[in-house]
Amino acid sequence: MATGWAGDGAVQDQIDATIKDAIQRVRSQLPQGPSLSHCEDCDSPIPEARRQAVPGVRCCVACQELRDQDQAAFSGYNRRGSKDSQLR
Ligand SMILES: [Zn+2]
Repeated sequence: MATGWAGDGAVQDQIDATIKDAIQRVRSQLPQGPSLSHCEDCDSPIPEARRQAVPGVRCCVACQELRDQDQAAFSGYNRRGSKDSQLR
């Protein structure tokens, strides 16, 4: 079904913008600074291998999984929200 070339271009622009937003959001959430020796959340030791593998790691595997789940839920919610909701 033809929607006209202008409409198709607009949709593509919107998709590109959405991807760029997502990449920027992920980049802004990358851990910063040195890796921690103990989990920020539950205080259990973080294995050296994990600290090497994840620069700036803040928490243990168990807590990271919880955070990832929270993040996924938040991203799904935020996708429907307005741009203003990202200005925290
Ligand atoms: Zn932990």
